[in-house]
Amino acid sequence: MSDAESKQIERMKSSLADQKSAFRADRQRSLAERKADLAKIAKLCRDNVDAICEAINKDFSCRAREESIFGEIVFVINDAEHTAKHLKTWMKPKRVSVPMNLMPGKAYIRRDPVGVAGIVAPWNYPFQLAMAPLVAALGAGCRAMIKPSEYTPATAELMKSLIGQYFDEDQVAVITGGPAVGQAFTQLKFDHLFYTGSTQVGRLVAKAAAENLVPVTLELGGKSPAIVTANYPFESAAKSIGWGKLFNSGQTCVAPDYVLAPKGREKEIAKAIIEVAQAQFEDAGNDGSYSAIVSDRHYARLNTMIEEARAAGAAILQPEHDAEAAKAARKIPPTVVLNLPADSKLLEEEIFGPILPVLGYEDLDTATDYISDRDHPLALYVYTTDKAEAERVLDRTLSGGVGVNINLLHLSIPDLPFGGIGASGQGAYHGETGFEVFSHNRSVFHTGKWHPSRMLAPPYGKLIEGLAKKQLK
Ligand code: NAD
Repeated sequence: MSDAESKQIERMKSSLADQKSAFRADRQRSLAERKADLAKIAKLCRDNVDAICEAINKDFSCRAREESIFGEIVFVINDAEHTAKHLKTWMKPKRVSVPMNLMPGKAYIRRDPVGVAGIVAPWNYPFQLAMAPLVAALGAGCRAMIKPSEYTPATAELMKSLIGQYFDEDQVAVITGGPAVGQAFTQLKFDHLFYTGSTQVGRLVAKAAAENLVPVTLELGGKSPAIVTANYPFESAAKSIGWGKLFNSGQTCVAPDYVLAPKGREKEIAKAIIEVAQAQFEDAGNDGSYSAIVSDRHYARLNTMIEEARAAGAAILQPEHDAEAAKAARKIPPTVVLNLPADSKLLEEEIFGPILPVLGYEDLDTATDYISDRDHPLALYVYTTDKAEAERVLDRTLSGGVGVNINLLHLSIPDLPFGGIGASGQGAYHGETGFEVFSHNRSVFHTGKWHPSRMLAPPYGKLIEGLAKKQLK
């Protein structure tokens, strides 16, 4: 471990102690204070658009500005403003009814902030995936410490500096560093740990949190399928799938990971997707709107997957592009793969890049069986003009979320909980669901002078005997 990492570990321990004591001194942030916190987040975003886009662009070595604006900054602004708008309702205690035999009295659920949240963020949307959980934590009245990814150091440093300008460190702190820092971070006794990243590291995070019985939310990855049915216009399906797959060059947790097309029509949809790619990017290698792969390691992994598929006899389709320019820019051209052997890496691992296998299915039920034989995906997409067909796909599968005739954008609807299931995650957030993650549903039963338990106390008499008879009838 480097000296810098050891320093970060010391700093995060004292930060946690400071945040915990600040929380104890001021447990209930008022609605006005929380709204002011959320307004600060929106202001931080609006005031620093160029700096945020430049930092992300530097980390990726090429990230389309529009993708950073919409996929990161606008998303966080909308999230903060939606939370501020609804916070009053979400914060209100919820009255519940009191059964006759326990009357008179008042029962309600308080939504209390849990305390200090730990947020571990990945590199693929390095700003959004740190700040959106922060919005939920601040909305719930919590304090938070953020650990960004080591693969996006410029964004991590910028967030540290901006958060330092807008918030006191005993309210929000950013801790930078690699896996060693991440590991030490997840061993801390937070009041909630919110992790976004790979399923593999998610397992380690869950284990570390379990040691301290820290409740954990895991936003993980997986292979999200897109089923295209025979009745849906292939051109429209290709436009939608191609767009979702190529946004941020496929480095999106809910990007379509593979396509299931009616058997015999795989080539048709593959070609249509390549046409969409060509229309979007005249030359992906030289196009500033086409994002680069985040690191040499990730680039090499994706190339190896393509070469393995080629060696195994798969057909590799790519639009026209300058291969040398793409390589120099660390870009993988849009790639559609046909005739893949079942045991190829592209079908076993989450791809997380602009490579899209297309598989054929005999009938819709075999397509849903293929999905159900595997881990539950984070997202599932179905393209159909038939509502009953869409329902049948949903009835026969389980996934974190669903897009019917669309992909990716279900996560932009603030009132839809966003999260996976099983290997793709535990728990969810966005909107009120996010507020709930960082709130404790605290049950309160408030009685008056007369105490119902008196009836249940010995010596038992006729009254309790009658009551027992009535309840057991
Ligand atoms: P990753 O798991 O490698 O890293 C995520 C974070 O964990 C980083 O901050 C890293 O420093 C930290 N970390 C690494 N090793 C650690 C350890 N041993 N203990 C504790 N922390 C550790 O993930 P990644 O490669 O940055 O992100 C890609 C993955 O994230 C993909 O699988 C993708 O699907 C998933 N993802 C999921 C969502 C979602 O919302 N469900 C969103 C984005 C990405």
